[in-house]
Amino acid sequence: MSEEEASSPLSFSADELKQGERWFRQDCVFVAGAATTSRIPEPDLPEIAFAGRSNVGKSSLINALTFRKGLARASNTPGRTQQIKFFNLGGQMNLVDLTCYGYAVDSKSKVQEWGQMITDYLRTRETLKCVVVLVDSRHGLKPTDHQIMQMLDSFEVPFVVVMTKGDKLNRYALADVHKAVGEGISVYPSAFDQVFPTSAEKQHGMPELRAFLSGL
Ligand code: GDP
Repeated sequence: MSEEEASSPLSFSADELKQGERWFRQDCVFVAGAATTSRIPEPDLPEIAFAGRSNVGKSSLINALTFRKGLARASNTPGRTQQIKFFNLGGQMNLVDLTCYGYAVDSKSKVQEWGQMITDYLRTRETLKCVVVLVDSRHGLKPTDHQIMQMLDSFEVPFVVVMTKGDKLNRYALADVHKAVGEGISVYPSAFDQVFPTSAEKQHGMPELRAFLSGL
């Protein structure tokens, strides 16, 4: 991707934006939480999974996307719930909360368990359409983000990068990070070119992200 493309604005038609909104306004309900691989439900519907470092703003983003407040629980306790959570959207697709990575330096075995479960899921899930990799706008791409992207690439799982908490930066700083992230992911064939700057708090970027995801 060229530098220009990396920082180019995202554009969607009015129809695409409307479809995105319609899609994500459908009923969204918790289906299952899996703490071990054997608990992962049978693949029945197309899935979009959300992954990110702890405290990246993943719960807030899932809530904002689906017009909810408490669907995915926002929390300041990193890694409190070691689960893959499945939410059904409109009976048509699953949203999958992979909870966090880069968690629990205090418990090696938990990290391994989590690593194994997430790896099994990502490697074998035939219904997985896309992983949304969340990156904190203030921090940009970290080594653990690259690790997960390399893993996704090696499994040939398409992924899209969403920058969270954009309201914490001014627009110049945000544009710089946007560009750097776009350049940083250009080495991964499985990455979509678009990088979505968002703020769950201010609802920035949500219509575009809904349009993109509903169009997959
Ligand atoms: P998770 O651990 O990745 O699920 O992250 P949470 O959604 O629980 O968010 C972690 C912290 O970041 C919470 O204190 C949120 O209120 C805050 N946060 C999340 N999204 C935003 C955002 O868009 N803007 C701002 N300013 N804070 C956010």
